[in-house]
Order: sequence, then C-alpha cells, then structure tokens
Amino acid sequence: MELKPTRYEGRREERGFAVEDHNSTVNQDIKRKFVSREVYGCFTQEVEYILSRWDYNDAPFSYDDVEHLYMPYCTDCGEGYINFSQEEDEDGFPIYVCDDCGRRYSEDDYRDLDTQEAEIYEWWAVSGFLAKKLAARGECVIDGPCAWYWGRCTTGQAILLDYVISCICEEMGILDGQPNSWAKLPA
Ligand SMILES: [Zn+2]
Repeated sequence: MELKPTRYEGRREERGFAVEDHNSTVNQDIKRKFVSREVYGCFTQEVEYILSRWDYNDAPFSYDDVEHLYMPYCTDCGEGYINFSQEEDEDGFPIYVCDDCGRRYSEDDYRDLDTQEAEIYEWWAVSGFLAKKLAARGECVIDGPCAWYWGRCTTGQAILLDYVISCICEEMGILDGQPNSWAKLPA
C-alpha cells in the first residue's frame, strides 16, 4: 500500500510544517539513520502467532493489548484509517482535528464517532522511545513483556518513507536544516 502524501498538503501548511521535502536525498539519509537506530526488526510472524493464541491464558499479550486497534473515523472523509491530532481550542478545551480534512471535533463528538479496526500488515520490534512517539500519533503499538511492537499499516515501501516517520523526525527537529539536524551524523 502506498501512502499518499498529497492528502496532507493543505494541512501541512496550516499546521506549520517547516520542512519542504521530507524525502530529499539528505532527509532520506537522516531517516535511514533514525530507523536503523529505533527499529530492531520484523516480527510479523511471531506477533501474529501470539495474537492467534488469544484464547490461551499463557499468551504474553492479546489483541486487547494493541493500542489504537480501533480508531474513530472522520464523518467528512468517510471510511479510512486517518489520524486525529489532539489540540486545544481557543478556550483551552481539548479538540480532535482530522489530519486529512482538518475538521474539528469536540471531545464528546470525537467519542461518538464510529470506529473501525486498523489494517495491520507488519509487526516491528521498536525502541520504547519510538513506540511512544508512534502511539502519540495514533499508531498501533503493543507494550509487550520484553519488547515494544509497532503494528505497521503500510507495506511495500521502506519504513523511512512512512509519513509518520517523517512527522516524528520533523518533530524532533533532526531533518535537514532543522536545529538538531542529523545530516552530519555518520551513517
Ligand atoms: Zn476528515
């Protein structure tokens, strides 16, 4: 499945994204370093096997432990697994903003939205640091007894090209031209 960066273009500007091209050659190199540091390996078969044993009491985790497995979807965008950003309105009350169309939902309206199950294609063992960043962006994560697992809803492209990875690197300010740029770090 291919991510469609164009879907986010309008919102990116509004939300003050500073980096023009997340996938420039330099930024791909930076994200490659980030992924090699924070992503430990693919454990799809292992995790799927464990999840398939949900009715065994000794399974180390189950679907109940998958954070964000069910996510609400925006009534404007229709069905589609789209993240919401948690923000505050003018009066300081929490609101949820659709990352795709920008529609704002109050907390009550957000809770009333219908949900759908995430389509997870791959499971990756990741650092606790990355797992928390992913979870904060609505990604599926398992806090397992010995490792953190990320349920990746994309496949068929390098992880460094995932939109969520670009967002996290930008938030950390490590992309090209940002204050903590990793451009000069050795590969
Ligand atoms: Zn929407």
